[in-house]
Amino acid sequence: MIQWVKNLLELQEVDMRIKSLEQRLALIPGEVASRQTEKKSALEILKNKREELNKNSMSIKQVESAIKQKLDNINRLQSQSAMVKKNNEYQALMKEIEELQSGIGDLETRQLELMDKVQEDDDRYKEFEKQYKAQESSIDEELQELNGLTGEIKDKIAELQSSRAPLTKKLEPEILNIYTRLLQKPGQPLVSVVNGDCCGHCHMKLIPQTMHNAQKGAVTLCDQCAHMLYTTG
Ligand SMILES: [Zn+2]
Repeated sequence: MIQWVKNLLELQEVDMRIKSLEQRLALIPGEVASRQTEKKSALEILKNKREELNKNSMSIKQVESAIKQKLDNINRLQSQSAMVKKNNEYQALMKEIEELQSGIGDLETRQLELMDKVQEDDDRYKEFEKQYKAQESSIDEELQELNGLTGEIKDKIAELQSSRAPLTKKLEPEILNIYTRLLQKPGQPLVSVVNGDCCGHCHMKLIPQTMHNAQKGAVTLCDQCAHMLYTTG
């Protein structure tokens, strides 16, 4: 193989690895953002559960205040009853007090039912919380891995960058210029001729003059895509 081709292929191999690492690196911020969104919405779901489950606690408070109101009424009626002279008025007050007491009994039953529900709610919430914590720690683990990966890739790129410098010195500036320009484009800058007389990059058939130059080992560009060509034969 022609020396410049050999040297350039060596450089190209390093650059292709750098390129693919850079592509991987570019995907990481999006992956991090999506994990963070996932974590945020999981927390949102947990908060909503808490609010939903707080409803029974709120109802207990309402029942308690209704009981207190009835007790206040009873106290008030009892003070009144001490001053009532007529028996029928007294009986009416007693009846009213009795009704209030029976109302309190109903409310207390309701209070107990709600307390059971709150207990169930708490148990359910704990279950949700457990699920959330598991999800959260798995996401955190992934985020940490992505963070580690970022570092690893950057180190690897730096290592490859420093190994490419001596390789560029082996090449003539003219070749290096063409190569560097092509490196900004997709695909490999230097490709072999394939299927006898086709460009290994764009796969178009090469004209005889181009084929001739490539076979001679001269710096040759594809007639169509301008990628650098070499023959393996
Ligand atoms: Zn081509």
